[in-house]
Amino acid sequence: MTQFNDLNLDPKVLKAIAEAGYETPTPIQAGAIPPALEGRDVLGIAQTGTGKTASFTLPMITLLGRGRARARMPRSLVLCPTRELAAQVAENFDTYAKHTKLTKALLIGGVSFKEQDALIDKGVDVLIATPGRLLDHFERGKLLLTGVQIMVVDEADRMLDMGFIPDIERIFGLTPFTRQTLFFSATMAPEIERITNTFLSNPEKIEVARAATTGENIKQGVVMFRASRKEREADEKRELLRTLIDAEGEACTNAIIFCNRKMDVDVVAKSLKKHGYDAEPIHGDLDQSQRTRTLDGFRAGEVKILVASDVAARGLDVPSVSHVFNFDVPSHAEDYVHRIGRTGRAGRKGTAIMICSPRDEKNLDDVERLVQSAIPRLEDPRGARPAAAPAAEAATSEEERPRRSRSRTRSRSRDDAKREEKPVAAAPQAETVVEAKPEPAPQPEPAPQPVPEPAAAAAPAQAEPRRNDRGNRGRDRRRNEPREEEVVGMGDDTPAFILKSFEERRAG
Ligand code: AMP
Repeated sequence: MTQFNDLNLDPKVLKAIAEAGYETPTPIQAGAIPPALEGRDVLGIAQTGTGKTASFTLPMITLLGRGRARARMPRSLVLCPTRELAAQVAENFDTYAKHTKLTKALLIGGVSFKEQDALIDKGVDVLIATPGRLLDHFERGKLLLTGVQIMVVDEADRMLDMGFIPDIERIFGLTPFTRQTLFFSATMAPEIERITNTFLSNPEKIEVARAATTGENIKQGVVMFRASRKEREADEKRELLRTLIDAEGEACTNAIIFCNRKMDVDVVAKSLKKHGYDAEPIHGDLDQSQRTRTLDGFRAGEVKILVASDVAARGLDVPSVSHVFNFDVPSHAEDYVHRIGRTGRAGRKGTAIMICSPRDEKNLDDVERLVQSAIPRLEDPRGARPAAAPAAEAATSEEERPRRSRSRTRSRSRDDAKREEKPVAAAPQAETVVEAKPEPAPQPEPAPQPVPEPAAAAAPAQAEPRRNDRGNRGRDRRRNEPREEEVVGMGDDTPAFILKSFEERRAG
């Protein structure tokens, strides 16, 4: 087995790796580091969780150890699709470069231009950026990319989804032809293949197993959910989620819950909080400082449950997430792989549980086709459900509007105190929560919102089609989060008679 010592890395890098506790290189590291150190282009087909960040950061630091930074001309460039991922790469860089004198700047939205400009003016070795923000700086004349010797494109498939490919092509064109390119993508869509054929020169291709799909360390399951009545669907789905969390008991130390729509991220987080769970939302519409605060809290173990959209959670590295809950089946099958890859990282055990509503069944088929296996069906932990709830219960949405009662108040405060030191799954039963305020009724899907990283203001309007861009409603489609807007099948408009026939069939 390859050891880090065999890889020709700078001793200062080896020291930092040892301090980080890494013993042996992961397959993507063992495959990518040697050609990268030889100055070759690398095409890494790997997703987060495989150690891919170190596979480009470690050789970069080693190569940049010789030479020094020049004003406004970074020597290397790392492009990431989202702010969170860029910030994470920057953190990794700090860890691995701590014994060197190399400098970096992070160019992401939500961080002031001034501070970043000052760093770039002084000269940085590594520039870590999202494409839009990088082009903003470039167009303001603050940055020259002609000194870039190494360029990394991270999560290229995500760039494609977000409509960043034209920006990437433009940035490639601004860097010297002689640069070395390290290019990473979880999948090789035809468009990605085209980019690599155009901009990479005889790359060494390293493909590593999809950790999430092949990893036996992730226990997967799906609950086929059917509401007792259409109008109770939202309430009951959230009740099911809470029961699933509770059923995991102490094994569930922290969790990420994925929703397909931003609106549901907010509603689910609010509902969980109302029921006494320690949950916070994260999605592209929240301001950067709030997102950072939430993420830091989650990493530090202060926030136990992160309710997230796909885009906001992309590339998040929280090494010890015990559980992933898919509140919805993702409408793009690959997102399932990305989502469950948040747990079971670095060889740990993880659990991924999904809720599948009738309208998600087609998406479930797609997921199972992609991962080439059937996801085990789990019993609904709430037990046998009545086919139709009594009229009074259905009308008052009892579960989301628990009754007031003194004993319940007491039981909640005791539970709250206990929860301070207990794992998240020890949350109180839904019935103990005292809360008079009803959940907000689901709203129609909001208008398109900015993606986590705004694109370059002066960049031309995009011709790049997005896979699921239904109608170019925004001025610039890169600003949308199409995945979070998608309504599948009949959305909330399923006629009642269709549901009724299901119920009758089940009852019969
Ligand atoms: P990444 O795929 O870059 O997001 O990395 C996933 C996780 O694996 C991160 O928490 C890294 O710190 C960790 N990691 C990376 N390389 C190694 C290694 N060689 N040994 C153990 N952990 C690693």
